[in-house]
This record gives sequence, C-alpha cells and structure tokens, in this order.
Amino acid sequence: MNELYIGSHVSFNKKDQLVGSVEEALSYGSNIFMFYTGAPQNTNRSEIDKEITKKAHQMMSDNNIDKSKVVVHAPYIINLANNNDKYEFAINFLKEEIKRTEELGISLLVLHPGSHVGLGSNVGIENIIAALNRVIDSKTNVKICLETMAGKGSECGCTFEEIAMILKGMAYPDKVGVCLDTCHIHDAGYNVHDFDNILTQFDKIIGLSKLWILHINDSKNDMGSHKDRHENFGLGKIGFESLIHIIYHEKLKGIPKILETPYVTLNDTTKERLYPPYKFEIEMIKNQKMNHNLIKDIREYYKKD
Ligand code: FE
Ligand code: FE
Ligand code: ZN
Repeated sequence: MNELYIGSHVSFNKKDQLVGSVEEALSYGSNIFMFYTGAPQNTNRSEIDKEITKKAHQMMSDNNIDKSKVVVHAPYIINLANNNDKYEFAINFLKEEIKRTEELGISLLVLHPGSHVGLGSNVGIENIIAALNRVIDSKTNVKICLETMAGKGSECGCTFEEIAMILKGMAYPDKVGVCLDTCHIHDAGYNVHDFDNILTQFDKIIGLSKLWILHINDSKNDMGSHKDRHENFGLGKIGFESLIHIIYHEKLKGIPKILETPYVTLNDTTKERLYPPYKFEIEMIKNQKMNHNLIKDIREYYKKD
C-alpha cells in the first residue's frame, strides 16, 4: 500500500505525448506527475493521439502510477479575472483544455484563478465565478483545482478567503477544489513552518476536503514577499524540515504532491537552466534526509550524457 504520491512537472511533446510524460516521470522515481498539454505561455495545441494515450495508460498501470492522481496544468495565460477583449477567448480555451484533459483520461486540472489587472479583487473574483460557471456543466468529468497564488501583481486567490469566495459561487461545487502551492502561500504571507495552523485555517475557511493537490516548492524569498520564485527542495526560505513535515503530514495522506522546483544550471555563472532536479529531490524526500550536495550531484549525473 503506497500512501505517498510524489512526482514532478514533466514535459508533454507533440510526438510522444503522454507516453513521453510517463517515461519522464518514471525516470525520476515518481508515481504521479503533472504536465501542460502544450506550451504554458501560448494556446497552440496539437491533436491528442488515441493510440499513444492508450499505450500511456497501459504503462501507468504496469508501473503503479495512479492515473486518478495525475494532473494537467492549464496554460497560465488564461485569465478569467479580467473581462477584457480576451475574456471570451480565455473561457473558450479553458473549455477546450478540459476536453483535451478528458481525452487524455486525466481527471485533475490545475488553474490559476487569474489577475484582475486593476479592476480590484472583488470584481476579479466575480469575473472568475462567472467564467467558471460558463465552463463547467453537469457533464464535466474533470476536477478543476484553483491554485493558491503568491500575490504577484494583481493576482486573485492569494488568500484562503478569496479562494473560498470563488468556491462559494460555483454552480457545480463538487467539481471545483484547491491546489495549495507551498512557495505561493509562503510568498503570500502564510507561515508554512507552522503548517498545522495553516491546515486549521484552511479547514475553517475552505474545508480540508477541498484540498486535492499540493505543489511542493521551496521559495527564494522571504515570507510575504509576493515574488513567486521557486527554489530547489531544501535550499530556500522554507527549508527541508518544513517541506518534509508537509509531505508526510497525517492529514495530507493520499493527496498528490507535485514538485515544480527550478531546473539546475550547468554552473554557478550561467543563468541557463538545463538539468531537471526531480530524480534527486524525490530521492531525498523518500529518504527523508537532506542531500547537501544536491546541485553538485545533479550536475554530475547529467553531465555524463
Ligand atoms: Fe501553477
Ligand atoms: Fe504551483
Ligand atoms: Zn509559482
């Protein structure tokens, strides 16, 4: 019986599609994963190949990947909070993204609530509610998970109260839940070192049964910085102990936990990010022991090929 569901962000390319994503996840020692169905910063999407999808699902069941806990991340350019000239496009694109997620046989979709861009958070939240209620209907088979945001710029959803307001407006409340991102809530001003208190607050304001996904990231910046810059596991302001406490928390058993920590650079001077850290971070998580040579080990491992 496996109670820890741990994985990372992986790629999804045109050619190998979901098979490529499963292979990448397995290479990190993951038993779940998350991916964008195309580039996150644009809405160009290719057709989903039925045969590849079938093969990927066979691979998942052969390798103990629980497909009910695999996650699609909607492109972050979809903004439902601002009802400008791109609002209709965003609504239609989200509808298509839900269809694609269903075609892939995936049931969890993470969505950034959106940025109000000067309209104020109340109007932003009203726009988000109206949009989601146009997107979700009785036939929607995907569960939408609203991500808690860092409060960068004019982001909506950077407090539990704002997330709760959106959830309260849902015509199909059973189809919408929450993805809690540790870097984002830390940057939004929550003290993640006292996670028991965070869960108490979350339960009171939103309800713990709504917590469907966790994004596990360290943060480069101080609590309340509103910066949203992820750091590798154990190397940021949240730190190893606090992240491990969250991952193995009694109340968070069975919830998929996804790493979105940054790729590692070739050396200390370049800014170009090359190597995925996930294999090594997942190893530390399983061992519950910090690897103080994390970056060095990653560079050495990937330099070989
Ligand atoms: Fe996200
Ligand atoms: Fe995230
Ligand atoms: Zn982030």
